[in-house]
Amino acid sequence: MAQGNYKGLGIDFDFSSMRGQIDERGENVIHEIGLRCTCNREDMFAGETEHGAHAARQRRRFGCTICSGYGYIYRQARYLTAMITGIRQSKTQVESGWIVPGDATMSVMPGELVSAGDLITFTWSEPISDGQTITRGAAAMGDNQSRKTGLEDDEDRLWYNAESSIYCEDEDGNVYSSGSNFVLNGSKIIKWAGGPAKGKSYTIKYNAYHEWVVFVPPDIRRDHGRDLGTRVAIRKRHVAMINTSAAASAADKIPFCNRLSC
Ligand SMILES: [Zn+2]
Repeated sequence: MAQGNYKGLGIDFDFSSMRGQIDERGENVIHEIGLRCTCNREDMFAGETEHGAHAARQRRRFGCTICSGYGYIYRQARYLTAMITGIRQSKTQVESGWIVPGDATMSVMPGELVSAGDLITFTWSEPISDGQTITRGAAAMGDNQSRKTGLEDDEDRLWYNAESSIYCEDEDGNVYSSGSNFVLNGSKIIKWAGGPAKGKSYTIKYNAYHEWVVFVPPDIRRDHGRDLGTRVAIRKRHVAMINTSAAASAADKIPFCNRLSC
């Protein structure tokens, strides 16, 4: 009969094996703590009504100089080793409806804190599955004219840091190529030389360093007071928060490899 805390069959978790698996088979990702910006308010005055000029609820403020209108801030970037599991292996989770195709699950070492709302960035590039459609010059049109978007007239903001272009075409069927018509420098900016006229829409597929939002409360796994490591679900940022502004933050303009110093 096993003694102490670990009764029953007397078989304990093999922590060194768990760590070894994540170490050997895990991927190096970037983890940032994600939380509301101060412009993303809810129940600030414990009431439904406005107090003075302050709305009781406000999802974000366009032109906010802290979050660039995202409504969320991401802090304390660091490397994290994690096991990334594609949703194809979690069919029951799709069927039960709490996860959608394209989501993934991620397990981290015991002791690592990853919580809902955090941002995970992969350190390798993959194609944006169905591309991104953009209105040329959106940052300088309509209401955006009165905002600080951080973009020049010949620039548009992409969802993700772009590593290279795969294909680009506008609504009139004109095809554009990287290097001669536009430049991708590893940041979230596409810089045009000519290209579609302002207001025209175009579609672009590109290889990008995907960002993922941790979107469910962590599945905290504990045994006899010990942390077995967290498993969370992650959703691509543009799916989790599609309604972002056309603005580019200072971080958006930094080529990805400069963040990594690779
Ligand atoms: Zn803000």
